[in-house]
Amino acid sequence: MRSYDDQNIFAKILRGEIPNDTVLDTEHTLAFRDIQPQAPVHVLVIPKGAYVDFAQFSAEASDAEVLDYMRAIAEVCRLEGVEEEGFRAISNAGRNGVQEVPHLHVHIIGGRPLGRMLQPAS
Ligand code: AMP
Repeated sequence: MRSYDDQNIFAKILRGEIPNDTVLDTEHTLAFRDIQPQAPVHVLVIPKGAYVDFAQFSAEASDAEVLDYMRAIAEVCRLEGVEEEGFRAISNAGRNGVQEVPHLHVHIIGGRPLGRMLQPAS
């Protein structure tokens, strides 16, 4: 399992060291707008606990944290108005997933047609 780096940018956001544009703040989850949005709606949903990825989160988080996280993801979609027209939920993990920030996050992307999920590998 990968170890958690508490100097990652989302850890700094959670500690209040870096500002964020908050969409939803619950007991165990924070959702905020991506600084480089790829679509009209682009929100990052992160657990407040120190988890690198879904593997660590599913192994170590409490039931309350997992439930809060899943419900927060759905609530963000409702708040952002993308439930009806659709959206994409993406979690990049590790090297092949090209995860830049080593704190678990789900991207909620929508507000326009998103095309095919993956481009053929070049
Ligand atoms: P990933 O490649 O899945 O790790 O995505 C990391 C995401 O974090 C990228 O979409 C970045 O634009 C976003 N990001 C990086 N720094 C910040 C920040 N300070 N506030 C909001 N989003 C950020």
